[in-house]
Amino acid sequence: MPRDPSMRGRDGGPYRRRRRELKALRLPCWLCGRDIDYELGYTDPWSFTVDHVIPLSKGGDPLDWGNLRAAHYRCNQRKGDQLVPIKHDVESFSTSRAW
Ligand SMILES: [Zn+2]
Repeated sequence: MPRDPSMRGRDGGPYRRRRRELKALRLPCWLCGRDIDYELGYTDPWSFTVDHVIPLSKGGDPLDWGNLRAAHYRCNQRKGDQLVPIKHDVESFSTSRAW
């Protein structure tokens, strides 16, 4: 996978900016669908975290908006390193008749 060696991932400024921009949107948790209290400290299980649709360990891009979602800390932890089926904006998913 192409990866700019100058990009320092989670520790880099670009990632922090993404996180701040995502936080400013005040979106609900994409994993459980409930609102996130953005005033909570980062030690709270219901606080805001940036979740990656495709985990970084599986080649996900930490800076791609399409790969970033707002999530509760606890939901993010529960999900862990697994791939979660995306329930929305998946146009290429062609098994809609299976419902
Ligand atoms: Zn949640």
